[in-house]
Amino acid sequence: MADCIFCMIAEKNIPSKVVYEDDRILVFHDLEPQSPVHVLMIPKKHISSLDDLQTEDAELLGHLMLKVKDIAKELGLENGYRLVNNCGEDGMQTVKHLHFHLLGKRQMTWPPG
Ligand code: 5GP
Ligand code: ZN
Repeated sequence: MADCIFCMIAEKNIPSKVVYEDDRILVFHDLEPQSPVHVLMIPKKHISSLDDLQTEDAELLGHLMLKVKDIAKELGLENGYRLVNNCGEDGMQTVKHLHFHLLGKRQMTWPPG
């Protein structure tokens, strides 16, 4: 999608530090990490948010979710991690292309702010 920064990253029009890639998803380091490990997991297909998921996206999302544990292992997150999705205005979503933050290598706190 034109003007979508994560589509541009997925298409390699904007550089990123890629951790994992296949035909359907891309995992890359966040530009402003909030923990020692902070990567973003995105579908290459433009989906604006979790709120815009369609039934036809079920397999794609299942694929992405099943990759979480593999990426976590690759990044050395044996002690645990947090997977975050910010959705919409109240969720403080800033980039309108579905993404999951995978954070680790520090003790998280609860509740989130
Ligand atoms: P959101 O607030 O939408 O959940 O998260 C967007 C995330 O994308 C933020 O953590 C922000 O640091 C990251 N981000 C925004 N622009 C870029 C970029 O151009 N490259 C990378 N690698 N991360 C970005
Ligand atoms: Zn996009």
